[in-house]
Amino acid sequence: MNFLSAIESKRDGKTLSTDVIRALVADFTDGRIPDYQMSAFLMAVYFRGLQSGEKRALTLAMRDSGDALKLPKDPRPVVDKHSTGGVGDKVSLPLAPLLASLGMRVPMISGRGLGITGGTLDKLESIPGFQALLEPDRIVEVVQEVGCVIVGQTHCMVPADKKLYALRDVTGTVPSIPLITASILSKKLAEDLDALLLDTKFGNAAFMQTADEARQLATSIVELGRECGVDTRAILTDMNTPLGRAAGNWLEVKEAVDCLRGEGPEDLWELTVESAAHLLTQTGLETDLAKARERASAKLADGSALAKWNDMLAAQGADMDAMEAKLKRMDVEAVVCVEMRSERSGFVTRCDARLIGEAVRDLGGGRLTKESRIHHDVGVDRLAKPGETLNTGDLLARIWAKSIEEADLASRRVQAALDITDEAEEKSALVCEVVE
Ligand code: URA
Repeated sequence: MNFLSAIESKRDGKTLSTDVIRALVADFTDGRIPDYQMSAFLMAVYFRGLQSGEKRALTLAMRDSGDALKLPKDPRPVVDKHSTGGVGDKVSLPLAPLLASLGMRVPMISGRGLGITGGTLDKLESIPGFQALLEPDRIVEVVQEVGCVIVGQTHCMVPADKKLYALRDVTGTVPSIPLITASILSKKLAEDLDALLLDTKFGNAAFMQTADEARQLATSIVELGRECGVDTRAILTDMNTPLGRAAGNWLEVKEAVDCLRGEGPEDLWELTVESAAHLLTQTGLETDLAKARERASAKLADGSALAKWNDMLAAQGADMDAMEAKLKRMDVEAVVCVEMRSERSGFVTRCDARLIGEAVRDLGGGRLTKESRIHHDVGVDRLAKPGETLNTGDLLARIWAKSIEEADLASRRVQAALDITDEAEEKSALVCEVVE
């Protein structure tokens, strides 16, 4: 294939054929197209966009660049949820086992965090012994036996996305709706799903800053997902405030376990139940969303989801005794804890997710580059959230850090993230819209 003419065509706003797109994905994956030419192509797509047929061809070619999961035929539908990422977003942890307890199969392929956005795998790797990378056969076995698995992408799944994403990351071509659509959907289509829920975050700690941008991405993914035979739906959720009261890998696992024990924060419970309810109706296991919410809440409350969580962790190598001991310990080895207390009474009207995310990242809980090593036990918990009333001396947050100096630095950031005012303000809705 003459890749130069494909670049020129896209530069000039022309439409590429499916054959050309398939060839360019295969040639790039196999190393026959150099990075400098693919960079030019990606930049042309960034400015010119892709027609719906081109987007579909790119997504399917990327899906087909490696091996797809093949789950045996089974009455249980195969589902997944993908979040575009934010601060404190640990929904995948209680959701995957909840979906399994509701009779669905969940082969959840997740990623690691970068910058202020936490990654599901980083959180799970704070559990002693947990294995995030399993062979494809073992992934299928765990899904069939337990009902859910949360793993990293294997080296043979969607290799085109790995290469393309790495290049987009260093060429300023990440924020392109057609490229994000192809990247997310190609990986999800390789999971052989019946239904997909996309949690599209918007706000100051999200990929998409405004609800409008989030809606555009959600619509693009929902339309193409459906065209490709997967019942796809999206919710738009607010990421100006962190989800839950904890941000930081191990602290988020603890909060997810609280949720599975019926004790977690309200917003985490709400979003977990809401996501499960959508997937119950998408798969036809329930026809009514209100009834689906009740069913999902009941499985969280009666310990069924917690039992699945324990089964999943054990199947993925976790040392359950060590995890239980870590959960019971008030302090975590080599980490200091500093409590921040309110100097005034009033109403919490702001808890800035971006500032909290930056504080956690700089404590060592997030990555500045893909190569950075993270510290699993640092972070922030017991965060005060909008809608709450505080008295002087009440807890604002606890900072878990490697040293007092780092804790002090983080506490200044957390202080700046919080507004406490004389007048209460109405809390914004967590789930703002459904795109289907
Ligand atoms: N997440 C992905 O998986 N791909 C993108 O392009 C952006 C976010």
